[in-house]
Amino acid sequence: MIAITGATGQLGQLAVASLLKKVPAKEIIAIARNAGKAKNLAALGVQVRQADYNQPVQWEAALAGVEKLLLISASDIGQRAAQHATVISAAKRASVKLLVYTSILHAETSAIALAAEHRETEAAIRASGMPFVILRNGWYTENHTAGLKAALSMGAVYGCAGDGRFSTASREDFAEAAAAVLTSNGHAGQVYELAGDTAYTLAQYASEVSRQTGKAIGYVNLPEADFKKALLGAGLPEPIAELLANADTAASKGALFNDGRQLNKLIGRATTPLAVSVKAAL
Ligand code: NAP
Repeated sequence: MIAITGATGQLGQLAVASLLKKVPAKEIIAIARNAGKAKNLAALGVQVRQADYNQPVQWEAALAGVEKLLLISASDIGQRAAQHATVISAAKRASVKLLVYTSILHAETSAIALAAEHRETEAAIRASGMPFVILRNGWYTENHTAGLKAALSMGAVYGCAGDGRFSTASREDFAEAAAAVLTSNGHAGQVYELAGDTAYTLAQYASEVSRQTGKAIGYVNLPEADFKKALLGAGLPEPIAELLANADTAASKGALFNDGRQLNKLIGRATTPLAVSVKAAL
């Protein structure tokens, strides 16, 4: 049995969809904190189990009989290392044979503040002694295209990444990689740096948006503090504005660039080009 945490999230839903192309639905367990949100997965024949990262007692039943587990990193920044530790120790007690974890690109050396909790989780996984695979996922292209509407209304893409290049890929690409690792052999002990085949700067992103919309959209590079202020002005909560500005600054120094093409190799095809993601978002 293969179980997936965060199965009702954006990456989780896509991972279940990718797995369904490779194994029968009855071999998949979708773990959700809110089982009601997983009705569409249950309708596909996937077994749904309820467990919340903040409720350690729920994980014994959730992981019973699980051989392979995809631990999709949680979303409560600052709480995640402890939440992941809950799942890792429950997986160990349940004798899970392979733990696959979605980390962040270059986790060991990344200057992105978000990487700290991933480093802590990677260390906990190693310390558990369980066979593991670390999927160090790069930036989702959707992190950029999610701001398309705002960019079109403001006539510009704003950021503080300078000429930093982003080797992004779509969530679907990363989900497919997870499904590939869960359904083929020879991955135990591997740490994969997963990134898109082609990198772009935010100026190149803005220029792709211009090309597809026919509107003049430029890239405006701001000092980090000003970009954070702009994000706050757009209504983002303080911690998120802080994290996004920090990530852009780290990207300006190469934190989100990688040209190893390991994602391409795992999924056996080219990663989704920026132009395709922009078109889909438009
Ligand atoms: P998402 O849509 O926010 O999904 C997060 C999932 O975690 C959801 O299913 C959510 O459940 C579940 N979850 C949150 N708190 C939980 C709890 N206490 N107990 C059990 N489940 C809980 O995020 P995503 O886009 O799929 O991305 C997956 C993860 O990648 C994120 O959580 C984050 O760690 C990381 N991430 C990566 C990037 C990147 O660019 N690589 C960008 C953003 C995030 P509900 O469905 O009930 O909300």
